[in-house]
Amino acid sequence: MKADLHLHTTASDGSLTPSELITRAVELNLEVIAITDHDSVEGVPAAAEVSRNYPQLTLIPGVEISTDIPNNEIHVLGYFMDCSDRKLNDELSRLRISRQTRAEKMAQKLKTLGLPIDYEHVLALAGDGSVGRPHIAKVMLENGYISEFREAFDNYIGRNGPAYVEREKMLPEEAVALVANAGGLPVLAHPADIDGIEELLPLYIENGLIGLETYYHWYNQQTIKRLANLADKYNLITTGGSDYHNDNGDAGGPLGSVDIPRKSIEKLLSLAREKGLIS
Ligand SMILES: [Zn+2]
Ligand SMILES: [Zn+2]
Repeated sequence: MKADLHLHTTASDGSLTPSELITRAVELNLEVIAITDHDSVEGVPAAAEVSRNYPQLTLIPGVEISTDIPNNEIHVLGYFMDCSDRKLNDELSRLRISRQTRAEKMAQKLKTLGLPIDYEHVLALAGDGSVGRPHIAKVMLENGYISEFREAFDNYIGRNGPAYVEREKMLPEEAVALVANAGGLPVLAHPADIDGIEELLPLYIENGLIGLETYYHWYNQQTIKRLANLADKYNLITTGGSDYHNDNGDAGGPLGSVDIPRKSIEKLLSLAREKGLIS
């Protein structure tokens, strides 16, 4: 099916505005898309507004929440939540504020390493979106401190790098519950590399998890099969997406590039219908 349920816009670190993304999705004849910005639902209203002009396209309001477990970062996708939910918005803005102070602290660390960056410029690159490590990496590249984007993560701001700063923590089960309590459907994003996922799943399911992102841009057939079997075992819906951020391909794949089985999308939509989230 021509669908893509994992997309970033300028409301986080994507390069297209929500309305540009809708236009591109229509040009590509996509039938169902979800906007899933990092720790933000701020792109959803503008996208919803524009998508009204295109009845052939179903827009799912979404979010991708960053959470932590020891030694690993887990991303939780939320679909169909009430984007005006007070608790959801409070928690997301708390995460974004911590992201901002974190970026500032990383800039300070880079300075002590002899690699000063203009923090105002980092903020300007982030625009209305939440400031993150990709923006810092971009400035490092512009300053000539590194010769390619990846080096920033490999040598400086990756998890084990000398300029890395931890984020304010949210647990995956808390993010799952946050989405569920806002009336949404929580799904584990790109779960293939989560160590011990099978031991963790029951707790997430207890808190409202309904799906696993199985058809992901970077996954091969073997990984997809493994995740589909896991989803089957725990009665979870399989979802999928490209994790599109921009056309440079430095994060995620091209818009609409993932082949998601029609029945997966239909299961998600019918669960949303069952729960009265869509008509
Ligand atoms: Zn992610
Ligand atoms: Zn993503």
